[in-house]
Amino acid sequence: MRILLLILLALVNVCLRGYLTENPDFYQLDAYTWENEEFRAMRLGEAAAEAENLDADGIAAAMLRMEYDLKEASEEDLEPPVVNLALKRRPEEYRKLRNAYETVFADLEYFPVPDSTRAETPEVTYENDWMNRRTYGGERGHEGCDIMGNALPRGSYPVVSITDGVVEKVGWLEKGGWRIGIRAPSGLYLYYAHLYDYAAEWQEGDTVRAGQLLGFMGDSGYSRVPGTVGNFDVHLHVGMYLRTDHYEELSINPYWLLRYLEKYRLKYNY
Ligand SMILES: [Zn+2]
Repeated sequence: MRILLLILLALVNVCLRGYLTENPDFYQLDAYTWENEEFRAMRLGEAAAEAENLDADGIAAAMLRMEYDLKEASEEDLEPPVVNLALKRRPEEYRKLRNAYETVFADLEYFPVPDSTRAETPEVTYENDWMNRRTYGGERGHEGCDIMGNALPRGSYPVVSITDGVVEKVGWLEKGGWRIGIRAPSGLYLYYAHLYDYAAEWQEGDTVRAGQLLGFMGDSGYSRVPGTVGNFDVHLHVGMYLRTDHYEELSINPYWLLRYLEKYRLKYNY
């Protein structure tokens, strides 16, 4: 009897393995898809950065088709699919993935550092530095994107809110210095760190509008002593976090989202 059962189990195993290898898509969406590094790296690429809007349907489908890397994607690749195989096969998981993109894209409105109306003001610079090595406070990956403004003294560059939202955290953090954390209506958490100063006496629960002045770029942080500056170059650290089934704060890469937002930039006189 036991031997029969073992043979039966072996048969089921062989059949199942055959099915899975014939259907590689089966593996593309597991329950942790939106929590793995491939998803979190947000490799949206130039086509998405240049698009007028980020469409969660089209991008979710393209990410699945192109293995979470849209750097080679064309404008057409990002259009919502007419027939969506992933949606047909695993509706629940596709829906979650699409919703995760929707959460990320829904409230993005402005690049966080306004353009200067004065031609002589040096431009800020940034690169894709998500998960680069950081060592202060222990070995870790960089959870964000640094917008460098070290050509001007601390406090020169204004920092505005990327989204509408509610102030969730504000004040001194050892790593983040003077920071402000804003929860957008869709659920995305935006973290702005190393500020020189705040534009208002922000309190938890305050409502913020997209484009509203939050504070000024600085170099505060990397110390337990509130107000410490000068431990690194003046820059704005932008972090973006999702709340998922398993994580309270799951960092995603803001780089391509910032690239996309560059065409939505306010102008300030500074
Ligand atoms: Zn940073």
